[in-house]
Amino acid sequence: MIPVILDQLTINKARLSERVHKLAKVGKIGETGVYRLALSEEYKEGLELVREWMDEAGLKTRFDHFGNLIGQLEGKNPDEPIHMIGSHIDSQPYGGRFDGSIGVLGGLEVVQTMQENNIIPDRPIEIISFCDEEGHRFGKGLFGSRGILGKLDPDELDRTDKDGVTRKDALKTFGCDPNQLHKSEYDPASLGSYIEMHIEQGPYLEAKDVPVGIVSGIAGPLWLTIELTGFAGHAGSVPMHLRNDALLGASKIVTALNEIVKTDPDAPTVGTVGNLEVFPNGRSIIPERVRFTVDLRDIDKERRDQYEQQLRDCIANVANEIGLQYKIKEDTNNAPKYCNEEIIHSMQKASDRMGMDVPILMSGPFHDALIMADACDYGMIFVRCKDGISHNPMEYATDEDISIGTELLLQTTINMTTSN
Ligand SMILES: [Zn+2]
Repeated sequence: MIPVILDQLTINKARLSERVHKLAKVGKIGETGVYRLALSEEYKEGLELVREWMDEAGLKTRFDHFGNLIGQLEGKNPDEPIHMIGSHIDSQPYGGRFDGSIGVLGGLEVVQTMQENNIIPDRPIEIISFCDEEGHRFGKGLFGSRGILGKLDPDELDRTDKDGVTRKDALKTFGCDPNQLHKSEYDPASLGSYIEMHIEQGPYLEAKDVPVGIVSGIAGPLWLTIELTGFAGHAGSVPMHLRNDALLGASKIVTALNEIVKTDPDAPTVGTVGNLEVFPNGRSIIPERVRFTVDLRDIDKERRDQYEQQLRDCIANVANEIGLQYKIKEDTNNAPKYCNEEIIHSMQKASDRMGMDVPILMSGPFHDALIMADACDYGMIFVRCKDGISHNPMEYATDEDISIGTELLLQTTINMTTSN
């Protein structure tokens, strides 16, 4: 369903679509893929192209020391807290054309349209393209957003990519000064609100047959690494009742996680074991050691904590039953973050005016918005993507849906930054 709104768009759909497809050519792989790792040559080329467009739109632009690109539209009151709109243009190694890019280019289209219509915001608006949201190259993402809020780990700049290049050197090559990072940090009090438009990366909107959705919150990810240690033995001779088979233990835990997260069929909880290593990994050897990852997400922190405890109890019971030692390491633990009610309301008001019935949905994937939520009120708009596919060259969103999302972003921004 494409609502009638398409022929009443305020934004310039042709300009926006052209930019989305031009940017997709930078780091293009195959017909529709994108390879634009953070701080790479392709990344720089893409970001410079976006900067040219920002300049063209009359924004005051700058690269900061984290490798972020920022374009500012001045407001009537320059000292008022900033309204920030952003996302990222770095990609996965085998990524798609829309992930991140539409949020940056959509934000740019919003301020360019405001300029062209002489709509002056009460407070400054900044369009930001965050560096290294994806985290593929150095193994840890959300770099630019954590950076501007002073939330980098102490060893963050020593992380290396697969060629041994440190993040510090990659930043220098890009033109940043890693010794001046603090100069690019924001005082959270200077940030008033943050909005991000992103492709959904899931199947909900397509199933509902609607172009866009309003996000209620971002599920908090809990990442664990679990190691079970048993005892290796000959697969032909050790009787079953005398075995300490670590893989048997892992299998029971994998299955239990799947059951635990489905306790409430109406809840959006998800749990995944996506990586598993077996040692010594031989056909005729009873597995001695198994290491596997757990990814557990929920919008309800209390429920997630409860499921985590059930999982931990299960691990202890299984280890006891099979005679295994176990270790649990916590890699990431982000609390879920609800979007600001007023921003959601503002988006609903805008979508009502546009004649759309827009559903509210949760985000399973995390975005820079999850970090920005610690500093200011935030909201997100999702754009339908085909079959929910993302992090894949097959990722696809129509120009029409992106334009409708951008129009909603524009109307919301006007609601939030102008007094009339
Ligand atoms: Zn993204």
